[in-house]
Amino acid sequence: MKEVELNISNYSKCLCPVCPVEADSPCLYTRQKTWRDARRQLGKVLKQYPEHPEAYEMPMQELEASDTGKDLHFAKPAPANMRELFCSEAVGRSDCQDLSGERTCQCPDCMVWEGYRLGSGYFCVRGSAA
Ligand code: SF4
Ligand code: SF4
Repeated sequence: MKEVELNISNYSKCLCPVCPVEADSPCLYTRQKTWRDARRQLGKVLKQYPEHPEAYEMPMQELEASDTGKDLHFAKPAPANMRELFCSEAVGRSDCQDLSGERTCQCPDCMVWEGYRLGSGYFCVRGSAA
C-alpha cells in the first residue's frame, strides 16, 4: 500500500473535521485555536494555487523548506494539533483519548481513501494506514 502523503492536496480532501467521531471531544476542543490557525494558513497557500501550483502536491515538510513555502510563510502544522490525515504515517493516531469510536467513520467517503485504496478506517483511534 502506498503511504499517504502529508500534502495540501490530501489535507483539503480529508473528511475528518466533519466526522462525528471527532465531535464532542473536549480534548480536541482545547486545541481549537491552534487547529483553526493551521487551517487558515493552509487556506492561504490554497488561494495561491494559480501562482504556485507546485505547493499543492509537495510534502508539507518540503514545502516549508522551499522558496515557495518561505514566500508564503508556510509552517507545517504539528501532528498533535491536526484533526486531519490520521491515515498518514506523519500524523497517525490522535493522542486524544476521548474520540467516539462507536460513531461512523467517514473515511470510506473520502477521495484520499479511494485514491490510496485504504480499505479500513478509524485511523484516528487505530493509527495510520501504513
Ligand atoms: S479517521 Fe475516520 S473516524 Fe477518525 S476522524 Fe477521520 S473520518 Fe472520523
Ligand atoms: S481516509 Fe480518512 S483520515 Fe485519511 S484523509 Fe480521508 S477522511 Fe482523512
